[in-house]
Amino acid sequence: MRYISTRGQAPAVGFVDAVLAGLAPDGGLYVPETWPTFTPEEIAGFAGRPYAEVAAAVIGAFAGDEIEPAELLEMCREAYATFNHPAVVPLVQIAPHAFLAELFHGPSLAFKDVAMQILARLYDHILGRQQRLQTIVCATSGDTGGAAVEAFRGRKNVKVVALFPEGRISEVQRRFMTAATEANVACVAVQGTFDDCQAIVKQTFQDKVLRQAVDLSGVNSINFARIAAQAVYYFTSAVALGAPHRPVSFCVPSGNFGDAFAGYVASRMGLPVAKIVVATNSNDILARTFQEGRYTRSVVQPTISPAMDIQSASNFERLYFEGVEREPVETARAFEAFATAGLIDIPPTAFAAMKAMFRGIAVGEDETRRTIVATLNETGELIDPHTAVGVAALKRSPDVEGPIVVLSTAHAAKFPEDVAKACGVTPELPRGAADLAGRPERYDRLPAETETIKAYVRAFAEA
Ligand SMILES: *Cc1c(COP(=O)(O)O)cnc(C)c1O
Repeated sequence: MRYISTRGQAPAVGFVDAVLAGLAPDGGLYVPETWPTFTPEEIAGFAGRPYAEVAAAVIGAFAGDEIEPAELLEMCREAYATFNHPAVVPLVQIAPHAFLAELFHGPSLAFKDVAMQILARLYDHILGRQQRLQTIVCATSGDTGGAAVEAFRGRKNVKVVALFPEGRISEVQRRFMTAATEANVACVAVQGTFDDCQAIVKQTFQDKVLRQAVDLSGVNSINFARIAAQAVYYFTSAVALGAPHRPVSFCVPSGNFGDAFAGYVASRMGLPVAKIVVATNSNDILARTFQEGRYTRSVVQPTISPAMDIQSASNFERLYFEGVEREPVETARAFEAFATAGLIDIPPTAFAAMKAMFRGIAVGEDETRRTIVATLNETGELIDPHTAVGVAALKRSPDVEGPIVVLSTAHAAKFPEDVAKACGVTPELPRGAADLAGRPERYDRLPAETETIKAYVRAFAEA
């Protein structure tokens, strides 16, 4: 399996190189040269299998012959053994045709653990084999950092620098990062927004000298292995609800569009997905895009679902690339223009193709809070603000074919203040994380300046 860049100016690479690189050297994103597919019989065969086995099958389809299948299965077993639920991603019914897929039973209580736990094992495996030491720099809107730190702390062949926007993530989110005591982890509070952090990471990667000096790598949702790992729960959820014999729809709380794009990937692999409802908070770039056919940036507003406070959804470039029939020159033109002008007019045929699968819905803060209350009253489930954005979008989509699965992306206890303010009930941290508030914190504070942060990364990597 070869991976090509959406911008067409980087050579094709194998799975291992695509994973280690994260972003392609031409600034594009890696996608497989062709989509691997499963037959309906193979998909039906996933029913009742342990999550780790389905994960090994789906991720294995992308790894090809670069990772030994038995070793991949072992890594998947270890990764998903860190989860606190035997199903790994259990379904909970909330209405006659609606279900929550609980993605938050991992160590940092958010869905990013699902991908990060396997990614960290893949990295350690590959780097160990190559006798290489890499430095991972990631920008986090709250949950990626915690998941990355949980997954990578103490690993021999990797150092991690996690950049988070100061004051814009919850205390619990911050503590999942800053409580790590291992020397291979550094956390930085950046005086800016998540988009600033993400832009700094992009610019850091564009510095070829630094990239080589510290063997830089990225685990943000641009990393294709994360997308592959996220496609897995679309399969397990849909199969549990009758796929491939009937189509299933999904409602996905979205920020960087990685999670929703993974649903598109599952459908390209043969899973019958009817609709993907892309649910955003008031940072509605994706909702507007799927409504209007124009991808236009606006100013980031802080919300109670901070992991989705994003106004440039990096994975959208992958969907655009598919929409323009994999035309790399057009994709490069569009996203280079977006970087400067903040605007892309989607060609009509590409937009029609996107609309066949995606619908965008933006949910305001009051509606999010009311949905937490209503869900508690109607179902007894205490949901977090990100999940509530998804459930609110579900309620506004009565015409979407069921069964429909809302991806529940975080445990309510990750956002205790806002959940309590909305519904009067304070969610409790599950066992294992209960002592989090008592652990000492360790992090540095830096201005949102690329050069300052690049110098920090170099010093940390070389220490
Ligand atoms: C990251 C995150 C999202 C958004 O996922 P994307 O892949 O960036 O669209 C939603 N909810 C939570 C809790 C998250 O951590």
